[in-house]
Amino acid sequence: MKLKAIVLAMMTLSALTLAGCGSDGEKGATGATGATGADGSNGQDGTDGRDYTAANEWFMAGQDAVTKASGNSISDSAGKAKNIILFVGDGMGISTLTAARIYQGQQQGKSGEENRLSFETFPYSGLVKTYSANQQTPDSAPTMTAIVTGVKTKDGIISVSDAAVRDQCSTSTGHEVMTALELAEIAGMSTGIISTARLTHATPAATYAHSVERNWEADSDMPQAALDAGCKDIASQLIDFPYGDGPEVAMGGGRTYFMPNTETDPEYGRAGRRNDGRDLTTEWTSKYSDGAYVWNRAQFMSVDTNSVKHLLGLFENSHMQYEADRVNGDGAGEPSLAEMTSRALDMLKQNDSGYFLMVEGGRIDHAHHAGNAARALEDTVALSDAVRVAIEKADKDTLILVTADHSHVFTIAGYPVRGNPILGLVRGVDASGAAATTYSTDSNGMPYTTLGYANGPGFGFGSAAVNTDSNRPDLNLYAVTDVDYRQEATVPLGSETHAGEDVAVYAKGPGAQLVTGSVEQNMLFHVMNYAANLVGRAEAAQN
Ligand SMILES: [Zn+2]
Repeated sequence: MKLKAIVLAMMTLSALTLAGCGSDGEKGATGATGATGADGSNGQDGTDGRDYTAANEWFMAGQDAVTKASGNSISDSAGKAKNIILFVGDGMGISTLTAARIYQGQQQGKSGEENRLSFETFPYSGLVKTYSANQQTPDSAPTMTAIVTGVKTKDGIISVSDAAVRDQCSTSTGHEVMTALELAEIAGMSTGIISTARLTHATPAATYAHSVERNWEADSDMPQAALDAGCKDIASQLIDFPYGDGPEVAMGGGRTYFMPNTETDPEYGRAGRRNDGRDLTTEWTSKYSDGAYVWNRAQFMSVDTNSVKHLLGLFENSHMQYEADRVNGDGAGEPSLAEMTSRALDMLKQNDSGYFLMVEGGRIDHAHHAGNAARALEDTVALSDAVRVAIEKADKDTLILVTADHSHVFTIAGYPVRGNPILGLVRGVDASGAAATTYSTDSNGMPYTTLGYANGPGFGFGSAAVNTDSNRPDLNLYAVTDVDYRQEATVPLGSETHAGEDVAVYAKGPGAQLVTGSVEQNMLFHVMNYAANLVGRAEAAQN
């Protein structure tokens, strides 16, 4: 009996194949060994654990996932999506997603690895090639241009094709490319732009502005020759937006880029950055009679989304606070990315013609550049929370995409035991496979963290200088899980760099089935256009 049972357990895999994953496989095996009679009661194998297909939680969870996925098959026709919500985690590479999901799970008291960020449950996903028209590893300007216009361009250039030359105003004329947000406005849809970075920063800017230089955020950032030649700074393009009835929602940081140098910031007392005397915040409220301008959380929370139809929110001088610092680190108070997303959807949903909303988790990128994994992960979780709001609030006819513009040289390494604190030192497993009692060590007997960077400022805390010491620090002596801790870096650089490998894209809603396999980044615009017929709706509205 015992021998036969073992043989059966070993045979289960092929039996399962015969059963086609439909059930736990006992029927298939029963048939094969039924002649012995004694083996007929194969179900017992399940209860005694020998038939792992009916008792092993990994096996059963995988089977459930396939059952669910098999019900996903959709082939939505073109134009079926009424609304589009595009989430971009700036610099949110795949290693960031993995680490953030573990981080979030551990914050909830779990082991972490089994956790899923909100969008990791979406039915479709793919890999996105992020190179730009002229760089193997890109910046946010050409990558976001690719996502929202359908064409790749050169580094530093915002929604102008690669026929232009960076920083050369004269090369932009005639090479501006239409964005999804512009098409949506022409089509009569409502639109929104949300970012925790400056609204004039490359990623949000690519949705509403056209510039051959991403750094032309205010007129004072531009060379006189470019101004003389008629090129416009990025902030002014948000207010002078020429299509439809203008964006309904624009929220983020970058307040001083909208203020004249004769005025001082209400929160910090610094002068505005505009030389042209324009106060774009008051221009917003005079341009839109149903508009409002807010700059702190209390004002934001008191906005009546039924009467306010055009909302400008500028919550910081420059970039908004990191999520880790938002509640305690900002005197005037700032809304969270999820709160901004929620309020924006309340406004945008009122348009029967649909809406296009772009939401950027803009500071994942900045924390990585600083070599500070804790803040990058916290901001990734904040983006996941914002996506959860969208999942709850958006109607079924909404295509939701979640992607990144590019990756970072951020690594998850070593052989830590399952559940090891993701920000902590690597503790492996002992010979029995259980948690080791001591930390893993390098060739010199020194411990190391799971998270690290291939380049950047390296070991330190907060804004301490770049670490050029070629010897590794003794991490036993430091609080490596502190929010200010900067992970070690192999190549010392003032700022950690972007990485060139693919990023992920996740999709849910009509047209989501197009997001699969390995795709060029500029294809994502075409997915949105196919799903919501943006060009067709814009053309129809013009006739
Ligand atoms: Zn509008």
